[in-house]
Amino acid sequence: MIRLRSMERINILKTTEYAGKKVKVCGWVHSRRDHGKLIFIDLRDRSGLLQVVFSGELYEKANKLRSEWVVEIEGVVNERPKGMINDELATGQIEMKAERLEILNKSETPPFEVSEGSEGIKEEIRLKYRYLDLRTERMKNNIVLRHKVVKLIRDYLDEKEFLEIETPVLTKSTPEGARDFLVPSRLHLGEFYALPQAPQQLKQLLMVAGLEKYFQIARCFRDEDLRGDRQPEFTQLDFEMSFPSQEEIMEIIEELMIKIAELAGKKLTFKPFKILTYKECMDKYKTDSPDLRKDKNDPDELAFAWVVDWPLFEWNKEEKRYDPMHHIFTSPKEEDIGLLEKEPLKVRSWQHDLVCNGHEIAGGSIRNHDPKIQKKIFEFVGLSEEEINNKFGHLLRAFEYGAPPHGGIAMGIDRLLMILAGEDSIREVIAFPKTGDGRDLTMEAPSDVSEKQLKELGIKIRKKD
Ligand code: ASP
Repeated sequence: MIRLRSMERINILKTTEYAGKKVKVCGWVHSRRDHGKLIFIDLRDRSGLLQVVFSGELYEKANKLRSEWVVEIEGVVNERPKGMINDELATGQIEMKAERLEILNKSETPPFEVSEGSEGIKEEIRLKYRYLDLRTERMKNNIVLRHKVVKLIRDYLDEKEFLEIETPVLTKSTPEGARDFLVPSRLHLGEFYALPQAPQQLKQLLMVAGLEKYFQIARCFRDEDLRGDRQPEFTQLDFEMSFPSQEEIMEIIEELMIKIAELAGKKLTFKPFKILTYKECMDKYKTDSPDLRKDKNDPDELAFAWVVDWPLFEWNKEEKRYDPMHHIFTSPKEEDIGLLEKEPLKVRSWQHDLVCNGHEIAGGSIRNHDPKIQKKIFEFVGLSEEEINNKFGHLLRAFEYGAPPHGGIAMGIDRLLMILAGEDSIREVIAFPKTGDGRDLTMEAPSDVSEKQLKELGIKIRKKD
């Protein structure tokens, strides 16, 4: 059947510009009120809510409508009488008198009323019916804010001549201190890809490639025992540039953060941002991510601070070895390299972390670009020649071909959005997050796969005893 498109649909927010005119709107029934001979509904689309009145011939049909039914309505937009104006609605000065109603789809009775929001609803229910949860005002606003922030990041970095470059998701293990998610290879039985914990080495290779300024809105995967508010996959603004000073990286990110704060209507405690050395920070606040807000009850205050001069290593008591405080690619400060053998814990690095309201939201560094120094650090943490070759041979080889000095940073988009949206969990700013134990309740993953698939991959499942 061909549907005749007699009239273009307009979005609900636009109806305010059409007083006295006939328009067509589409959306979901948000709520319905029966006033005897009149039926009122609030119709919802992504842009907002509109009061629609049905009477006369349309009464019977409108009386059947229920929450979340999908409808198309044509009617005339009227100014509301003075006393009936609703200041809480963006369209509160008008309403629509329906002349035609088409029911495009019905809905089961939803497990919770979208119009009432999902705050008090069990998270399991919200995640199972995420498509309904995302219809609520709060969740929609979070998704819209996320889009706006990511768009601002792209536009800002594009203006500064950064290139957005995609790096592979099927790649090789990238050490960021967590366990890798592995993907078995069917074509190379017994071998595995790893999902990137971060595109760290790939972005460094892009610097060797002469692309100079890179960014990516990058999905990162870390198979950790999920403690607190972590997700096995999360999104970072990944950023790298060639020939930078540390200040330059910090300045670019700081300017970006100021723009994002403006977009979200927040105010800054420090402008320029406070800069603390790691030592100052630990001495004074006993934590490396202090909450420096003046008024911790003010939902609009953002206290950004940089933490610099981190130690390159920390002592791992259990394993009795030195571990990189961040990752193995961070460059030591040139003047401290001499301390490497005798007093390794005194070696400071070119690490720069950005904290906001008590959360670490970005971390990065100037990297090693001299293969000799990088190799020395691999050896220092106890990697054998063979391990170095297997794990990092590709990187060291690349560094032999004119690697420029380079550095960068990665910022947690989910965490930043959580703070901007005033939410307590990053799950509230991710469209389809996983539960605390790593399940996707909407898609029901992880799930069993067929015998055939396993066979093709050469995998046998050993049942837990
Ligand atoms: N790759 C690092 C991370 O994910 C950040 C960086 O050093 O750029 O934490």
